[in-house]
Amino acid sequence: MSTANVAPGTSGSALRELTADELAQLDDCERVIAAGLTGFLEVADALHTVQEKRLYQNKYDNFDAYCWGKWGFTTRRSRQLIAAAKVARNVGTDVIQNERQARVIASEKPAEQLAIVADAAAANGGKLTTSALKKAKAKRAEPPVNPNTTVNGKAAPEPRDVAQLRKSGMIGADVKVSVTDHGAPDKPKQERDAGEDEVTDEDWVRRLPLWKQLSEKLRPEFEKDAIAFRHANDVEDPVMDSLRAFFRRENKGMKEKGLPPYMKRIQVLLKTPDPSDWKLCMSTQDGGCGGKGRTKFSMCPKCFGLGYVIIETRQVKAK
Ligand SMILES: [Zn+2]
Repeated sequence: MSTANVAPGTSGSALRELTADELAQLDDCERVIAAGLTGFLEVADALHTVQEKRLYQNKYDNFDAYCWGKWGFTTRRSRQLIAAAKVARNVGTDVIQNERQARVIASEKPAEQLAIVADAAAANGGKLTTSALKKAKAKRAEPPVNPNTTVNGKAAPEPRDVAQLRKSGMIGADVKVSVTDHGAPDKPKQERDAGEDEVTDEDWVRRLPLWKQLSEKLRPEFEKDAIAFRHANDVEDPVMDSLRAFFRRENKGMKEKGLPPYMKRIQVLLKTPDPSDWKLCMSTQDGGCGGKGRTKFSMCPKCFGLGYVIIETRQVKAK
C-alpha cells in the first residue's frame, strides 16, 4: 500500500484497501457530510454509515481519527448528531425541526421523548420550540406536589429528601411536613447559556487566549486538551457532578496536606481551572520556555514541550 494516502496521525496498522463499491459509497457519504447544510438528518445518517461500515479504514485507524482528521470535529459531536437523528426518527422528522431541539430530549427514553414533545407543544400553543421542550422536560422531572408538604408555607414540589423519607416510611404518608428552604443549595443547576452550547469545539477553542499565543505547531495538543476539558465539564456530566458531591462530602474535616493519594487525585481534577485560565509556560528566567515548548538546547522541562501549563486553583469549584 502506498503511504502517500495515509492520513496524518494514523499509524497505518489498521488500514485496508476499500473495494470500488466501498469507495463509491464513501464518496457519496462524504459529499453529503461536506455539504453539511442539507440538514442534520442526512449528515447523521452519512456519518453513521461511515462508522458502521468502517468506510474510514482506507485512511484512518478508527472513527475518532476520521471525524477529527477529515471533518475537524470530535466523536462526541458526531455522536450528538447521530443521537439527534434517532430522536427525530422517534418523535417524527416533521415534528422536530432542528438538531438543537432533538438534543434537549436525546438522553430520554423514547416514550418519554414523545411525552415531553406532547407537553411542550400543548403548553406552547401547538408550536414546538427549544425552550418549550426544555421547560416541559424540567417540569416532568420535577417531583410531584404533595398536599401534605409545604415549602416556605406554600404548596410546591416535594423536596427529594422528604419524598425519599416518605417512600421509606420514616415519614408517614399523611403526616404534614413544612419545609423551610433558604434557597441556594436546591437551586436548579445553571444551564450553560444556549449561545455557548451552539459554538462548535473548533470555534470555541480558537477563542481561548492561549490559542492565539501558542505557535501553530503547538496548537493541536492544546486544542485536544482544552476540548477534553470542555467535554468532561459539561454541565450535565453526571460523573463530574457525582465526583464533586463525593469530594465535598468526604473532604469535610480533612486537612489539605493530609489528603490520601486517591482523594488528592480527585482534588487535582476538580481544581483544574477552565482552559481560559491555563497559562503560557513561564519565562526562560524562571526555568520555562515562555511558551515555545523548547529551551535553548532541549525540550522544556516545565511544560514538557507543550508550551502551556495548568496551575491548580485554590478552591474546589462550588456548583
Ligand atoms: Zn515550557
